[in-house]
Amino acid sequence: MNSIDKLAEYFIKFPGIGPRQAKRFVHFLLTRNPGFLHEFADLIKQLKKDVKICESCSRFYSIESDSNFCRICENPNRDESVLMVVAKDADLENIERVGNYNGLYFVLGGLLPILEKEPNQRIRIKKLLELIKKKNGSLKEIILGLSLNPEGENTLEYLTQQIKLVKTKSPIKITTLGRGLSTGTELEYLDDNTFQNAFKNRN
Ligand SMILES: [Zn+2]
Repeated sequence: MNSIDKLAEYFIKFPGIGPRQAKRFVHFLLTRNPGFLHEFADLIKQLKKDVKICESCSRFYSIESDSNFCRICENPNRDESVLMVVAKDADLENIERVGNYNGLYFVLGGLLPILEKEPNQRIRIKKLLELIKKKNGSLKEIILGLSLNPEGENTLEYLTQQIKLVKTKSPIKITTLGRGLSTGTELEYLDDNTFQNAFKNRN
């Protein structure tokens, strides 16, 4: 296999990228100058060294201090009584961009396919349940901010079941963004109005 095909094979592994797009990326890189390629390659090499996973919400964040928590989790102005569970970092970033949610987050790291035999391996369910236990008493509401597709709904059911098993001092309300979202909606691409409506009408 030549370098073009080899590199294309990597791009095919990216979410939503097919063989033709992958080739287009490679051809784009071929037209760039050496400086561009050098910096691009360096950034990829550095990525894992410069980024950590937040101990509380499990999102990726750039290491700027010695803290084990990201900026959102460290911000004393965020409302600790609300926790929004999302599938991936891109969902969280989109909701932050809209900007009217002031609670905390938890990133699951994926969704559960129907009939998944080992949910533990697919999503960070253990970490989520530990976090809920740790916040015992201070947490009043958990919003399940999952996309409306079969995997999203399957995950929603599983999470609801698991969260209800956690014994807490005061009951935690579990809500979803379901109403106001249409089927197939991806949280990652949600526009401001749709999110605000879904958030207002959560139930
Ligand atoms: Zn965090």
